[in-house]
Amino acid sequence: MKPLFLIVVYLVAVTLPLILSTWLGGPPRQFHQELASGLGILAFSMILVEFILSGRFKAISNGVGMDVTMRFHQVMARTALIFALLHPFLYQGTPSGGQRPWDLTRELTLTTDFAALSTGIAAYLLLPSLVLLAIGRAQLGYKYETWRLLHGIGALLIAVLLLHHTVYAGRYGSQPVMTWVWLAMTGVAVGSLLTVYLVVPLVQKARPWRVTSVVRLTPQQWEVTVNPDGHRGMNFNAGQFVWLTVGHSPFSMKENPFSICSAPAAGPEIRFMIRELGDFTRTVGQIDSGTVAYLDGPYGNLSVDHRTEPGVALIAGGVGLSPLLGILRQMRRTGDSRKVKLIYGNRTIDQIAYRDELGEEDVVYVLSEPPETWQGESGLVDAALMDRVFSAKEFSEWVFVMCGPGGMMDVVEDHLIQRGTAPHRILSERFNYD
Ligand SMILES: Cc1cc2nc3c(=O)[nH]c(=O)nc-3n(C[C@H](O)[C@H](O)[C@H](O)COP(=O)(O)OP(=O)(O)OC[C@H]3O[C@@H](n4cnc5c(N)ncnc54)[C@H](O)[C@@H]3O)c2cc1C
Repeated sequence: MKPLFLIVVYLVAVTLPLILSTWLGGPPRQFHQELASGLGILAFSMILVEFILSGRFKAISNGVGMDVTMRFHQVMARTALIFALLHPFLYQGTPSGGQRPWDLTRELTLTTDFAALSTGIAAYLLLPSLVLLAIGRAQLGYKYETWRLLHGIGALLIAVLLLHHTVYAGRYGSQPVMTWVWLAMTGVAVGSLLTVYLVVPLVQKARPWRVTSVVRLTPQQWEVTVNPDGHRGMNFNAGQFVWLTVGHSPFSMKENPFSICSAPAAGPEIRFMIRELGDFTRTVGQIDSGTVAYLDGPYGNLSVDHRTEPGVALIAGGVGLSPLLGILRQMRRTGDSRKVKLIYGNRTIDQIAYRDELGEEDVVYVLSEPPETWQGESGLVDAALMDRVFSAKEFSEWVFVMCGPGGMMDVVEDHLIQRGTAPHRILSERFNYD
């Protein structure tokens, strides 16, 4: 889906309850009270839409890219948190108490009904905890799978608590039309979780794959190949990624995202280039041929398939080569006439993977810790190196695709913008959203 369309859909979804509440109206209250309700309403709808922005819905993440989806998810979660935190304080000065017979529209008083308030207070405490746990995930050092489970359950709990609070304590949420709107929106949010954790695994279960080879590429990188078992495989674009489960049930949540490094034109077999990092990746070398695997995908928009630029610049750092290798392989296999140049950075010479296949023509190998005998580029992939490799014409006309460590991506992106590369000609993907 086109980014502009997605932005419009987002704005409509988030503001719909606010617009409907304003439209349904009621006797006027003071501005600060309306502002308090407005912020609460906005915070709740933003939280519900966050469920759809989890990166697991192709209509979104394949349209604007995974990086943008996850960054947007993070920024909107923090914005919703600020709105939610401000919301109760703005009611200050408003008389409170039980429902008055002469104030059925809750124009003059705030409810003190314990049940309705307690769910709001519980959500008020849980929401910052959820956001802080997500921000500090890497520092807190607990397992990714544990965090993911906690994040999902926490978000579900907050949505249900807020639904109760909005309907029973809210001046607008208690109106029948709004109650139905909130129920429908919460239903969609909960449904999105069920889709990811129940429907998608069921589909995966019916389409198993088998590991056919595991090959060591470098001391810490492996190539894992999987083949479809009893079905025709998966349609994907070179450069996309999947969530991969190996040796576990698709319901186990033991899945990790990996880019596909093989070309779609190579047939149904799919290859991954995997670098040892944590629990799963450090055990890749022990996977036996024949082990069952499940793939959920393809995801991501790191693709040059329908691009019209005359040349493709691929800039990789370490295992970030994986999706770019898929693109390069596809271009070579299909006899793509566009020009291509690959910059491939590593720390040491033994970390370079696929050197024989990549060759030397139009490939610039860069080492930050080169051996004395090294003839190629040394140092980091930085602005000076980019200027040595690409001409002014290439900067302004080519499409630049990059994947690698955050530091490298920031430097390269900044330099491309500085050299006049249009933002829509820069495609990037990070392996880490922290
Ligand atoms: C879009 C994308 C494509 C990727 N492609 C490749 C690739 O081609 N080759 C490669 O070697 N690595 C790739 N990665 C990184 C890879 O997913 C992690 O290295 C791997 O998941 C680590 O798992 P682990 O159990 O070994 O380590 P853990 O110790 O469990 O995790 C280490 C870190 O990896 C990340 N991670 C772990 N599990 C997940 C998950 N389910 N979803 C998202 N992030 C997770 C988290 O940041 C976590 O802190 C990619 C990541 C993303 C987001």
